[in-house]
Amino acid sequence: MARVSLKNVSKSYGQTAILHDISLDIEHGELVVLVGPSGCGKSTLLRVLCGLEDISGGELRIGDDVVNDLPPAQRGIAMVFQSYALYPHMNVYRNMAFGLKIHGASKAEIEKRVVDAAKVLHIDHLLDRLPRELSGGQRQRVAIGRAIVREPRLFLFDEPLSNLDAALRAKTRIELSRLHRDLGATMVYVTHDQIEAMTLGDKIVVLHEGRVQQAGTPLTLYQQPANRFVATFIGSPTINLMPARVLELGTQGARVQLGNGCTVLATVDAGALQVGESVEVGLRPEHCEVLAAGTAPGAMDAAFDAEITLVEHLGESNLLYLQTDDGQELIVRGDGNAAVRLGDSVIVRAAPEALYLFRADGVACPRLRPGNMRSAHAR
Ligand code: ADP
Repeated sequence: MARVSLKNVSKSYGQTAILHDISLDIEHGELVVLVGPSGCGKSTLLRVLCGLEDISGGELRIGDDVVNDLPPAQRGIAMVFQSYALYPHMNVYRNMAFGLKIHGASKAEIEKRVVDAAKVLHIDHLLDRLPRELSGGQRQRVAIGRAIVREPRLFLFDEPLSNLDAALRAKTRIELSRLHRDLGATMVYVTHDQIEAMTLGDKIVVLHEGRVQQAGTPLTLYQQPANRFVATFIGSPTINLMPARVLELGTQGARVQLGNGCTVLATVDAGALQVGESVEVGLRPEHCEVLAAGTAPGAMDAAFDAEITLVEHLGESNLLYLQTDDGQELIVRGDGNAAVRLGDSVIVRAAPEALYLFRADGVACPRLRPGNMRSAHAR
């Protein structure tokens, strides 16, 4: 397995720049997830890594080698696609053995590698079956098995679970995590699904319009997003954003005024801010709560009046859709047991530590205490 490093990699098609100045280190044995909305350049980046596309600028290294001009077959990379592309007339064994056979491996070597990989993937009882006799999940495992037997330096996965139903996706995701751990393999995994990214990745790289927005652990991206794009992309339902104006700055953070006239303190590093500056306050649906009208919030809390316009019951919790006096829409994740009704007037409450603050250019102010919001809630 190998370390991969990209330095200022760019890719253009004619005059159109698709990837801009991508710099990224993927450590030996790491599972890195590339995530971003459709069209942000994820697949292009994978194709650049495996050599199906030339790069227009920068340097790409796998292990100690600069591989800018190395053809795909010599890069030691195995790619798993969402379409499994299994040979329909070959059984599972022959599908997995095929690549080794054309590379001239001995029969004994092929058998050992195929059987070992099949065991790891729990498909050793399916070796005689044809692809059409397998479920979608099993076919996906055969496709992964075909990659494993080649013992590549790097695995690339391009949305490999998109053809599976929700339950199977979740199950296969867990299996992939285990597989990664068992193989100790370096893997790059592409998805547009932030939940898949959060649950799978050691490191997540968020791409937008061909640029890396942030690379970090799932928790870092969630708690300390670099900018508004990352904050809105990671987390479900999406973070609430409210326009505001900076009133006062201090070591505690920034006091800002929301559109409805309420002032709230956000516990952020306010060093870069100016009084009077337009900002946006971010508040995650799971970091605030709804109190009955008339309840007194904590002295330091952000609190404002709102009306419930929709309730979605999810069982373990519910999603409350609200509107504040100034027409601002908010989503709050509520306790599934609480009695809330459409049209109720309530107070939305959040601790100062729960708030995020974004400048007009979208850059986030670092949060000073981005820890456990639930404990900040307890009172
Ligand atoms: P993603 O995988 O994130 O959905 P892609 O990497 O497939 O995005 O595409 C990124 C952008 O590059 C898109 O705007 C797409 O239209 C463009 N693109 C992809 N391939 C080509 C190509 N061969 N020629 C021109 N533009 C392309």
